[in-house]
Amino acid sequence: MRMRIKCEMDIINRLLPSMNVKKGGRSCHTQLSIGKKPQSDSKEGTLFLMVCTAQDKNGTKFQIKDNVEQIFAKFINEGKATIRFKDPEQDLCLCKADPLQLKNFLTLLRKASLGQNIDKINLSTLAPASNKGIDKPKTKLSVTSRKDYPLTKSFPSQLEHLHISQCRMKKIDSRIFQLKRLQHLDLRENVVEELPLTFSQLVNLRELILNSNRIQKLPSSLFLLPNWKQMLSLLDLSNNNITLLPVQLCELDNLVTLRVDHNKLETFPPTVGRLKKLKYLSASHNRIEVLPYSFMQLQLEHLDLFDNLFIDVTKSDLEEKEWQAPSLVECCARMIRKNRLPYSEDDLHAHLCRYLDSARVCWCGGFCFEGCVRALTSLSLQTFSPTVSAVDLQGRMTVPVLLFLCSPQCQRKYKRNPHAYWR
Ligand SMILES: [Zn+2]
Repeated sequence: MRMRIKCEMDIINRLLPSMNVKKGGRSCHTQLSIGKKPQSDSKEGTLFLMVCTAQDKNGTKFQIKDNVEQIFAKFINEGKATIRFKDPEQDLCLCKADPLQLKNFLTLLRKASLGQNIDKINLSTLAPASNKGIDKPKTKLSVTSRKDYPLTKSFPSQLEHLHISQCRMKKIDSRIFQLKRLQHLDLRENVVEELPLTFSQLVNLRELILNSNRIQKLPSSLFLLPNWKQMLSLLDLSNNNITLLPVQLCELDNLVTLRVDHNKLETFPPTVGRLKKLKYLSASHNRIEVLPYSFMQLQLEHLDLFDNLFIDVTKSDLEEKEWQAPSLVECCARMIRKNRLPYSEDDLHAHLCRYLDSARVCWCGGFCFEGCVRALTSLSLQTFSPTVSAVDLQGRMTVPVLLFLCSPQCQRKYKRNPHAYWR
């Protein structure tokens, strides 16, 4: 059982509301301890609750026995509780405490207030708080050289921003995944090769920067982790060796910024248009030849596609083809993708997973595989975003876009009025 806890606290003077004074103030970091005054006899001494803050390191003492009017602990599992004293007429509103520590602390306080014997517990005498006890917990840490890397010390557990660069980190330190509050993780300029699924433990991660590492392959299951799918808003994978963006990346519901410059990408996932919140996209210095049709559904504010391998399209072009009945595999695959049924290599052969991943999206929204025809056109960059720069040094402002048509009906419609398809 602990005699001391750290939390945030707000003191409310119950006399104040009647005097028409706004009650409560800003909560501050506090150390609470239960103990006896130093000079008092250890057997006879009265127990006190001592409250130390950064402004008041020596602490304010509240007598405990027969002086705790009530303990409000309905939200104890959220680390919140209120202790109401009789004299002075004050309420200590505690929050952001460790729930388990708070439970133990309040149990002890309750016992002491009833005058029950708690001597079995080794109570220390009350001493002023050390700086460590009341300082705001460290929420940001930046390590920019190997010699500063914490090898023996652990990372501060309350970290929200962590930046580690130029440390030649090859495997992401597993201790990082223990940091439950982490929101912003910047590991640029290391030598990371793989992204583990333990990322699932970082339930608050919003921004992930992996610029300038050695990543070649992105595991598709990473993008299906609930925390990635719902929380991730910025992903920077620039300056790696990535050849393919998995289609599952398009399931990141809150992705606003995606940077994939300086990689070896040959294409975007056909469903890229599903990234409804995407505003900033940069994919310069890759090997992209054409953009998929769903790219037109993006509502970007900034787009950079400089230095890719875009093909020249002089005139719009529709493939002529004899339609045949689609294969059984294609029929099944179309249904799986249409109904967004989840699939993984756990229940399907890897070959079939890749087949399903390769689905093309027709203008009508349907999916198709081999059984489709292509239409190719060239569009102005302004179609995609108001803020664009040329794709090459010659100032070219057009890009090729590839459309797949899933059925003879869609093909007929397209033939009748191609302009309806290209906005
Ligand atoms: Zn169609």
